[in-house]
Order: sequence, then structure tokens, then C-alpha cells
Amino acid sequence: MKIKKLEMIGFKSFVDRTIVNFEHDVMGIVGPNGCGKSNIVDAIRWCMGEQSAKHLRGRAMEDVIFNGSESRAANEFAEVTLTFENDAGDVPLEYKDYPEIAVTRRLNRNGDSDYLINKTQVRLKDVTDLFLGTGVGAKAYSIIEQGKVGLIVSAKPEDRRLLIEEAAGITKYKSKKKQAERKMEMTQQNLLRVGDIVAEIE
Ligand code: ATP
Repeated sequence: MKIKKLEMIGFKSFVDRTIVNFEHDVMGIVGPNGCGKSNIVDAIRWCMGEQSAKHLRGRAMEDVIFNGSESRAANEFAEVTLTFENDAGDVPLEYKDYPEIAVTRRLNRNGDSDYLINKTQVRLKDVTDLFLGTGVGAKAYSIIEQGKVGLIVSAKPEDRRLLIEEAAGITKYKSKKKQAERKMEMTQQNLLRVGDIVAEIE
């Protein structure tokens, strides 16, 4: 999955609708200190489902919403849309036929939060599942920030293994296995309960 376009409205310093087109394989973002370069990476990370305000360099999630300046009032919401080229065929079946996949995350100051895939409202889990095994995602290796290479090198073998598993594309199968095991466990409990009821009736 390759990012084609990033669109931000009211996200951190990007109060007006701002579009960044990723037209080349390698692109650099340059600008003076404090102009918002890291905010662009934060926007990508946030849209992919990041749940930790600290990882977005804030104290609370609300800190991603433009909080006003001398000349502009604060925004009521932040919205980021990431558009991906869907050419690798590694997305869940229901999205296979779309040439592009647009993921949107919106947050209101009152706490309301929405996730959309191709303009259809979905759950956070759907966004996480979309990215599983693609290398993209809030926790995957698609964002290598300062110090991350060092962290990977010095990480515990089990933590490093998670990255390798994601790169090998098996994370989604492990996640599905876990879900299936949970369902089997619940079914087992239900069977026990039914057995008890039947025994009581007899
Ligand atoms: P450097 O080169 O120093 O690392 P940078 O270009 O990466 O800087 P960022 O850290 O992306 O800059 O942006 C910092 C700017 O974003 C600051 O001016 C800060 O006031 C502004 N900013 C962050 N959050 C918000 C917000 N919620 N509302 C308005 N502005 C914000």
C-alpha cells in the first residue's frame, strides 16, 4: 500500500484544508523550525489509528485539534484523510476491487470520534484490520522516527520478532487465530451452560 495523498483539516497547525500529494517514490519535507513538518507525520500516524496522545506529542487526544492563534479561533474538530494506492492486493477481500482506499479519522472537541473507509463509517478495528500485514499502520514499521532504528536493534528478540512477522505478512493470520480461539472458548462455555440446564431439566 502506497500513500498517494494526505488531506488535513483543523489538525494541529494545519487549520485550513491542506493537501500533500505524495507523487514520487522519495519525497522530502523541508521548512524552518516549528513550521509543521513533524505534524505531517503525526497526521499520518493519527489517521492510521494511533491511540496514544503521547505518541502524537500531546497530553490528550484533543491536542491534535487546532487550538487557536492570535488571529484565528480554535477549531471544533480535526479531520485527516489518507488515500492509498490499492495495487499490492494485500487488503481484506471487501476492498480488493477499489483502485484507491481512503481512510478518514475525525475527532470533535466534544469527544465524538469517527473512522471512515471510502466514506463509509467503520470501527477502529476495521481500520486496524485493513492495515494488518501490509507494513502500514500505527504500530507497524512504516514510520521510522528518530531513534527507532536504534530501538529495533536493541529490542528484545520477542519484540523484534513482531516486526519481522508483520513484514512477512503473518500478523493478520495470528490475529484471526486469536479471534477464532476466543470464539471457541466462548462456545465451550456456552456448551457447558447448556449441559447444566439439560441436566437440571432431566
Ligand atoms: P522542528 O524542525 O523544530 O522539529 P517542525 O517543523 O517539525 O519543527 P512541528 O513540531 O511539526 O514543527 O510543529 C510545531 C508547531 O505546531 C508549533 O508551532 C505548535 O504551536 C504547532 N501546533 C502543535 N499542535 C497544535 C495545535 N493543536 N494547534 C495549533 N498549533 C499547533
